[in-house]
Amino acid sequence: MEETLTREKLLENKPLIIGGPCSVSSKEQILRIGQEVKESGAHAIRAQLWKPRTKPDSFQGVGEKGVPWIKELKEKTGLPVVMEMMSPEQVGIVEDVADILWVGARNMQNYDLLKRMKSDTRPVILKRGLIATMKEWLGAADYIGRDRVILCERGIRTGADVMRFTLDFNAVLAVKHDYNMPVIVDPSHSPGRRDMVPYLSMAAIALGADGLVIETHYNPEEELVDKDQTVSTEVFKILVKEANDLYEVVKEPDWSKL
Ligand code: PEP
Ligand code: MN
Repeated sequence: MEETLTREKLLENKPLIIGGPCSVSSKEQILRIGQEVKESGAHAIRAQLWKPRTKPDSFQGVGEKGVPWIKELKEKTGLPVVMEMMSPEQVGIVEDVADILWVGARNMQNYDLLKRMKSDTRPVILKRGLIATMKEWLGAADYIGRDRVILCERGIRTGADVMRFTLDFNAVLAVKHDYNMPVIVDPSHSPGRRDMVPYLSMAAIALGADGLVIETHYNPEEELVDKDQTVSTEVFKILVKEANDLYEVVKEPDWSKL
């Protein structure tokens, strides 16, 4: 029997790097991206079948029909797959394929979803809500059970309007140092543009984040959702190497004695 993937096992990857498209759009797309993400040395693939979108007429994801593609993706790459669910029902639909559950920013306070995840055993990546306070974020983690959660800082709304969101690096430090919670950073959604992703990725590693989740595609212009912030798999490969090299220098930074 396959060994079950626990949060601790996942976090043995230092730094933990997850890559993949914003959304799964076809079998060919996810299989090719998955292969390239694996070859880059990443540890898990993001493969979202459902997308929470601002407007109802935007692409909503391929949904359940993508489940067999994800099965094939896992067989071909051997890497764990991270999948976002927006409802308790969707958790059941991906029962056999999702190795890591994922709560998106817009669902951080979807309490029925969080309660459903509590009755599961898989690790959960919990994104911070668009304007969630630390208390609300940790409260959401408590619904699932803090010991299975990896927090994900993805940027919050502030008065700074030069970019979509502001990455809250203070919060990354606070959850790590004051609450002893693992936290990864999503450098893709806050700038909303791909040229900034490398800088924010390295800043996160320098700070001591436990990992990164980065949107990548072999041809970002083909991506149906969030293409402007999607880096090519070529750039992703360089980023994985740079993140590992930087981690070797900074390890887990501890300035507490200063
Ligand atoms: C995503 O990861 O594609 C996404 C929609 O992120 P968030 O939930 O942080 O907006
Ligand atoms: Mn996205």
